[in-house]
Amino acid sequence: MRWALLLLLLLGAAPPPRGHTFGIQLHLASDDRGPVVSEDFIAEQLAAANKHFEPLDIGFEIVGVDALPASAVHVETRSDRDGLATDRLGGKLIHVFLVGQLDDVDDEDRIDFGVTWHAKHDDRKYVIVASQALPRTLAHELGHFFGLPHSSYAISIMNKTERKEPPQDQRTFADEEIAAMRPVLRRLLRDRVIVDVR
Ligand SMILES: [Zn+2]
Repeated sequence: MRWALLLLLLLGAAPPPRGHTFGIQLHLASDDRGPVVSEDFIAEQLAAANKHFEPLDIGFEIVGVDALPASAVHVETRSDRDGLATDRLGGKLIHVFLVGQLDDVDDEDRIDFGVTWHAKHDDRKYVIVASQALPRTLAHELGHFFGLPHSSYAISIMNKTERKEPPQDQRTFADEEIAAMRPVLRRLLRDRVIVDVR
């Protein structure tokens, strides 16, 4: 079974032990050509997330993969988005939807690489990563999950301004952003929104 195989492959990519390891449940859109992203795409997103969150001493591993219907390949509107995060989704983990194309819900001429949002029916945050995403998009969206806004730190992967310096491979979270995520992490753990999977 394809999903089980994917899960096995990704479990092999689990991070080294950290202070906390959180589970990510993937919801993968597919059309008649198959899943919208490859195993390599997922492994690259996960590896980048684990790299950028190391200073916070947290890591992520995939705990499950399930299939979204073909209607989820193209997410165009806010209600499409909320439709993904139905209240059937439980668990004290992070739900990440992998879709083919994600339109900017505020500007119909633009597409997004990813988004993190509060669904209407609950106060949990959900994450979408689109197939055009940069390798660090999941890490960026998890930054939002842990409470960060966009920023203007030159080093930061939360800064969306085009710039040459520092080079892409040297960008990560600013120290101030790591510090800002600590209290949010404590609150999410205290409220048992997410729990350790190790
Ligand atoms: Zn963002």
